[in-house]
Formats: sequence, C-alpha cells, structure tokens
Amino acid sequence: MDPVAVLRSRFGFPAFRPGQEELIRAVLAGRDALGVLPTGGGKSVCYQVPAMILDGITVVVSPLVSLMEDQVGRARAVGLRSECLTAVQSREERRSVLRALRGRRLDLLFVSPERLSVASFRRSVEEVRLSLIAVDEAHCISEWGHDFRPAYRSIGGFRSDRSLPVPVLALTASATPPVRRDVCESLRLQRPAIIVHSFDRPNLWWSIERVPRSGHRLESLVRWVFHARGAGIVYAPTRNAVEGVRHRLSRSGISAESYHAGLPGPVRSAVQRRFMDSATRVVVATNAFGMGIDKPDVRFVTHLCLPTTLEAYYQEAGRAGRDGSPSRCVAYHGPSDRRLGVRFVDRTHPPEIRLRWLHWRLCRLAGRARTLDCNDPRIPHAVGPGVEPWRRGDASGAFAALERIGAIRGCGTVTVDGVSVHERVRVLDRPKWLQSNVLRRSALARLAAVQRLAASRGCRRNGLLHYFGEVAEAGCGRCDCCGWDSGPGWLCPDG
Ligand SMILES: [Zn+2]
Repeated sequence: MDPVAVLRSRFGFPAFRPGQEELIRAVLAGRDALGVLPTGGGKSVCYQVPAMILDGITVVVSPLVSLMEDQVGRARAVGLRSECLTAVQSREERRSVLRALRGRRLDLLFVSPERLSVASFRRSVEEVRLSLIAVDEAHCISEWGHDFRPAYRSIGGFRSDRSLPVPVLALTASATPPVRRDVCESLRLQRPAIIVHSFDRPNLWWSIERVPRSGHRLESLVRWVFHARGAGIVYAPTRNAVEGVRHRLSRSGISAESYHAGLPGPVRSAVQRRFMDSATRVVVATNAFGMGIDKPDVRFVTHLCLPTTLEAYYQEAGRAGRDGSPSRCVAYHGPSDRRLGVRFVDRTHPPEIRLRWLHWRLCRLAGRARTLDCNDPRIPHAVGPGVEPWRRGDASGAFAALERIGAIRGCGTVTVDGVSVHERVRVLDRPKWLQSNVLRRSALARLAAVQRLAASRGCRRNGLLHYFGEVAEAGCGRCDCCGWDSGPGWLCPDG
C-alpha cells in the first residue's frame, strides 16, 4: 500500500505535510528514524499511517496519561484499533487491553515509558508481532531536553535486549542539536533517517515587551487582549496569576475562562470544549493547558511571563495560527523574571548539597527497613519547610528530583482525590549525584537562553530559529525588533 494513497483514503488529506512522508517511508523500509516536526506539524500521522500499512502492532511510548487518552481517541477516529495502558486504569481494564493485545485485536497501543519494564507487559509483547516502536515527545530522553524522564532511557534496551527486528521512530517538536544527538544515542538508533522540518512559522508575529514595573504588566496585557481580535490563549505562571488575569479580563468585558490543574477534571474538559467550539474567546491558563489542543484558528497567544525554557515558549506560542493565517505571539518580560526562573529551577532541580541533605534525613528516618510510609507524619518535619508532599507524576518537587537520580523509589500506588500517589518510599543507596548537577546546569543554561532572547535587540524569530539549530537570514520584518509595533490598536499589513 502506498502511504499517499492511505493518507487520501483514510484521512482525506490531499498531501503530506513537510517531513511526514520521508519519515513514513523510512520506517516502512525498516529503518530507524528521528523526526523533529514543529507543534502542529502532524507527528501522529507519522505512526498512524505505518500502523495502517504494516502487519503487526505499533507500540507508541507517550509521556502523559491525558495525552495518551487524546491520542487513542484520534487514532480511533481514523479507524485504528487503539488502546492505552495506564496506571489510572483498573486492573481489570489493563487485563482486557493485554488480552486484546495477545489476541491481535489491536493496531496501536499507547504506553508510558515506565510500562516497558513491567513484567506482565513484557511477556505479552513477546507473544505478538510488533511492527514499529514510536517514541513520542522524544526530547524527554535527553538530560538536555526540557522535561527529562529517566524511564525514557530504558526504551533503547527494550528493543536490543530482545533483539526485536522492528524500527524505532522517535518524534519530537523541540530538539536542539545536543538533544538530537542524545536521543539517537539513548534509543540506540541504527543509522537513522533524521528529518528536521523547519521551525519557521511565517504567519506568526513575535513580540517580547519589556515592562520595568511589575504592576504595569497586567495592565498592558489586558489592554492588548482588549484590542486583539479572534480566539486567544493567555498563559500565566501560577494558578493565582491565572485567576487574577481572568478576573481583570472579565471586568473589561472580555469573555474569558480559567484553566489550571487545580480545577476538577470535568470543569477543565468543559472549558476546553467551549474554547474549541468558540463559545469562549479567551482561555487564561497555566502550562497545563495545551496538550492535545488542536484549535486551528487561535489568533494570539500571550504570555504574562516568559516560561523557563524556549522549548516551552515555542511550543505554547506555536498554538497560534495553525491554520496559516497571521497570528500574534506577545510576551511580557521584566527584571523580576530571572529571579522567579531561578527559583523555579531550584525547586525542580535543587542543588546537590540540598539533595544530599534530604537523602541523609530520609535515610535516618527509614532506618534499617529502608522504607517509609509516604504519609508518615515525621517526613515533613524531617525534610523541613519548603518541600511539598510527594505526588506521583509531579516532576517539580524535591522528591521527584531525588527519584530522578535514584536516591529514592516510590512503591505501591493509591488514589487520593483522583490523583495517584505512592504508598511507600524506598531510600536507595547509590544516588547518581553527578546527574543531579548535569540536570541543574542544563536547566540554568536553558533559563539563560530565555533571558538572552528577552534582552536581545535582534530579530526574535531569528533568535528562536537559531536556538533550534536553524540558520536564519536577515530580519523577519514581523517582530517587535524588526519594527512591528505590537502595542494596543496594533495591526499588521495583512491582518
Ligand atoms: Zn524579526
């Protein structure tokens, strides 16, 4: 079957987007491949089309449960028999998925990287024929990627330990050259086809406005959104900031809703649906908003503060203008941002000395047994203030940092208020202290790149492209540094 014919008959698209066809043809020929396609570049088509053509099951490794559920839905919509295996499913649900897998009643199976080391899953996979292993959000493999997950590093071994004769397709929307090298090495890709589609989005107009007084930032943003037209997303760094901005926008008569992880699941889904249906014009959100959002006509994305990495900024801002029409990405920046960024890095990647101290306290508390109940009331006292309780899946706290370097390991899972948390924590003997330093250094380097772009007087678009390893020519003519006036009442020649 020809991939183009499949695309036309099953998806109804006349042609592939740039990069897709080369990747698909590489894996159909049995070759490993790495695809760097920008957000909205249609990464899922790259494994969906092979899953329709190849005989066997395609396993897709994906980082988040919410993302997987969305991916399953979209794959089913094009007629692929799809399921996912997640920790939030009941044991019976997981068994039924494994039965479907062994009974060869599946085309696509989505799993987390952690699942690859679960014995029952490994046994089931050995009984069936795999046709492709796709790794979504592959930058998570790299310590230089912006959301490093150690379990991603086991994927390479998963294939080579079993000598599985299947190609591996790694996909990401944001891989700088060092991340690309790291992804290829960690996944042990064999002479991979590497397709990097340009990150340039000619329909996006960029602006980073410096606001010296922090109180003026919200006013500028509200004024800007008031004059903007069409649907938009406003990103704010914390839940409180989200509520504050939403309140101010509503007071100015702008139809806006909030979205953050503190809201119950059904409320979040309803906000997302109303935004997709254009019943709500503006969503004010933390970075929790966006995974799986594919609204083509978002006309602007505004950041109250720049995120702590350019990868995150590009991914979030890139949700504007997917239909190709002119759209604006406006961010605000001020002197206090660097301090906030460093504080964020301190929380996500605490200094080694702090991690050593925490590990030592936990060792003493656990004693010979080496295990602690996560609800042990002595823990908060032992680790002192400023360390939030341990939540499974929360990648930002000190406990997550300790787990990343193998200083502790969570055991058992219980669900509390709909969130899965570990029951016990095991204190381990040989943490990889060196790795904690590498992670911290790379997080600080990424933060510095954000600060450089904000402070620069050079073309914004070229600065972003350069960061992602692309060579850009002279100024773009559509950013604040190239002369676009992004102030209220803004217009651009074609919008
Ligand atoms: Zn420019």
